[in-house]
Amino acid sequence: MTAPDHALSTVRARIQAACREAGRDPDSVRLLAVSKTRGADEIRALHALGQAAFGENYASELVEKHDSLEAPPTPLGLEWHFIGALQGNKTRAVAERAAWVHTIDRERIARRLSDQRPEGMPPLQVCLQVNISEEPQKAGVAPGEAAALAAAVQDLPGLALRGLMALPAAVDDLPLQREPSARLRALRDTLNAEGHSLDTLSMGMSGDLEAAILEGATIVRIGTALFGPRQSQSKESA
Ligand SMILES: *Cc1c(COP(=O)(O)O)cnc(C)c1O
Repeated sequence: MTAPDHALSTVRARIQAACREAGRDPDSVRLLAVSKTRGADEIRALHALGQAAFGENYASELVEKHDSLEAPPTPLGLEWHFIGALQGNKTRAVAERAAWVHTIDRERIARRLSDQRPEGMPPLQVCLQVNISEEPQKAGVAPGEAAALAAAVQDLPGLALRGLMALPAAVDDLPLQREPSARLRALRDTLNAEGHSLDTLSMGMSGDLEAAILEGATIVRIGTALFGPRQSQSKESA
């Protein structure tokens, strides 16, 4: 068990050091706390230390924690991000609760989220998940198909297309960690040159946030380094 104040200041210091090395403004990188498998009490503790954005991988966990922490009369007002695989029968629950979805890789799911976004809410901010290393069996649109998906998502009224997300295989070596992040950034630059205005690169986790920041990450998604190792490994396969 990591003390939450120590873990949070350590992660913030890593982000700041990486920004310094990259010559970037530390405010250009947002910390998303990945709270999958963690209890509402742990989210509350990090929120009390100033953390506002939380990422969930499972729709059922998003519903449970969101509805408990955002219940009247004292909703916390957190920013909820959905970062997991999304099935068609779970889109409504996410469209009604999330501010962001990072894992759009099919037009059908994007269309459902747009249709199901409640009227009074701002458009759902979305990233396209790209299978940037073209690994077999891995989620994400192929890099060569990202432009077509971006064009389709761009037109959906309930969504705001913000950028690209990647979940590369974990490796230890910094130069190797930088490669997939560099490719994601290059793909973002290509899409922008074709007329999009994507301002978000969601990449970098506990083990490779420095590499991702050096390559331009604007959101790093951090679980283990904030909360300690996850206990329920059985839920990890999704
Ligand atoms: C679990 C998860 C993370 C966080 O990974 P850590 O290595 O624990 O920091 C980030 N992104 C996604 C999509 C995840 O599923």
